[in-house]
Amino acid sequence: MQRPWLNSYPKDVPKHIDYDEKPLNDYLSNAAENAPGQKAIHFLGKELTYREVYESALKLANHLISRGLEKGDRVSIMLPNCPQAVIGYYGVLLAGGIVVQTNPLYMERELEHQLNDSGARFILCLDLVFPKVVKVKSNSPIEHIIVTGLKEYLPFPKNVLYPLVQKKQKTGILVNVPYNDTSIHSFKEWMRTGILDKPEVSINPKEDLALLQYTGGTTGLAKGVMLTHYNLVVNTMQCRYWIADARFGEEVILGILPFFHVYGMTCVMNLAIMYQSKMVILPRFDAKDTLKTISKQRPTLFPGAPTIYISLLNHPDLDDYDLSSIKACISGSAPLPVEVQQKFQEKISGRLVEGYGLTEASPVTHANLLSGKNVTGSIGLPWPDTDAAILGAEGKPAETKEIGELLVRGPQVMKGYWNLPQETEAVLNDGWLSTGDMGYMDEEGYFYIVDRKKDMIIAGGYNIYPREVEEVLYEHDAIQEAVVLGVPDPYRGETVKAFIVLKEGCTVQEEDLNKHCRKHLAAYKVPRLYEFREELPKTTVGKILRRVLIDEEKQRFEDA
Ligand code: AMP
Repeated sequence: MQRPWLNSYPKDVPKHIDYDEKPLNDYLSNAAENAPGQKAIHFLGKELTYREVYESALKLANHLISRGLEKGDRVSIMLPNCPQAVIGYYGVLLAGGIVVQTNPLYMERELEHQLNDSGARFILCLDLVFPKVVKVKSNSPIEHIIVTGLKEYLPFPKNVLYPLVQKKQKTGILVNVPYNDTSIHSFKEWMRTGILDKPEVSINPKEDLALLQYTGGTTGLAKGVMLTHYNLVVNTMQCRYWIADARFGEEVILGILPFFHVYGMTCVMNLAIMYQSKMVILPRFDAKDTLKTISKQRPTLFPGAPTIYISLLNHPDLDDYDLSSIKACISGSAPLPVEVQQKFQEKISGRLVEGYGLTEASPVTHANLLSGKNVTGSIGLPWPDTDAAILGAEGKPAETKEIGELLVRGPQVMKGYWNLPQETEAVLNDGWLSTGDMGYMDEEGYFYIVDRKKDMIIAGGYNIYPREVEEVLYEHDAIQEAVVLGVPDPYRGETVKAFIVLKEGCTVQEEDLNKHCRKHLAAYKVPRLYEFREELPKTTVGKILRRVLIDEEKQRFEDA
């Protein structure tokens, strides 16, 4: 098959990698053996070494086994970024279990669906979400709840308390773990009395699942993506080779992206462990805390999402902080406006490049180069051993620059959806994964995403890709965030509507925005409606929840 993008590969990135065929957890064992005293985690002032993380993971693994965990059992982890999220994840893998990442913001209905769908018998959760877990327990397969709190890993005495912890203290919510209930355990207790032997579990990396990662939450009922140990090892190794000049053991990776999302999990947690490097983690995103942390902890790599970079750029105190330690930022999960790419890159010592991925591919399949050619507005080149194609009209391969659906194939692509063979068949064909994203490839083999298949607006018979309109809006000085949707219209089928968040202290008239858009866009693409908001609904990785806005608009239309 012709792979034109390979001509654009720089010399220091291999087109093919010999991937390790071993369980993902072996990287933590290696790090603990080779660099036991090396710092693995920095969390709000407390640091843990690789030996400490590994020993805690072993203790957890042995406890899980002593409570009846068998190879292939699913264990839900419902935690924000904190040391226990890393320990829990690797503890489950060391025991031969399958991690089910659970968003701590899930409401009871979502949690109940995920626990039942995955068949999880164990859950490791934050004390703050414990009441939710207890409520759904009797309607789920959960047999054991392990409870932990953020305070367990905060340094003592605490002169700087994290808002989440403060809130907990102010409101007086204290979780009293009823020790007489043998199905409820305290993480701390397990850590105190654990066994350090390495469990004997035989893993076939290409067959055995490491993870069930739920996706589709923003578009429908969540499905479990089955990712094997090999899928995850491959994608982490691809990351490692892509950042070709990163120094083993010396990089410091900023962990703002949540580890319960596959992006933060691979590009921060697993990458740091494979690199035997330190991850500096924060339990939730706050622009000021992030700026302070960067200044103090001097991270070198900062994987993020557009909305994260946007809110840092727009923080009034941005110039008081030194971001020069950062030599590489990779932005994924949503389109990166060119404006934001350029402005943020000026603040760091290296590059901010755009990448692309999806849960079904562990997640990364494309990225721009950190040295060599960086094409702004493009998602870059496919990763080593990754094929990409655009499906053109009538199911034929697209011509250069013709827009069609992006398909990808590679060793990081999932085994399928958990218990959903029909849904799997609908997206996986001969190893090719249909991404549902519309894009094209240029003459040099760089790929571009123009939109989600279903985000395209059809107004009066014209196809409009929201991203193009959003890019233009972002160029306006007063605009901090913009999202463009098709809303129902009795005459044109749909019409273009823009939701705008203005920069602090800015005002703007609709007429100014119209003028600005008309300068850069064909008339049929210019928004007919504007709505100004204080903020936009977002997922935990900062992706704007278009679905929520679309549903609100539909409802408004039906009520009218
Ligand atoms: P998830 O499975 O939550 O990681 O979401 C994957 C989806 O995020 C993809 O199918 C795309 O729609 C979107 N996405 C990821 N990276 C980009 C990007 N660089 N540009 C546009 N959309 C992106």
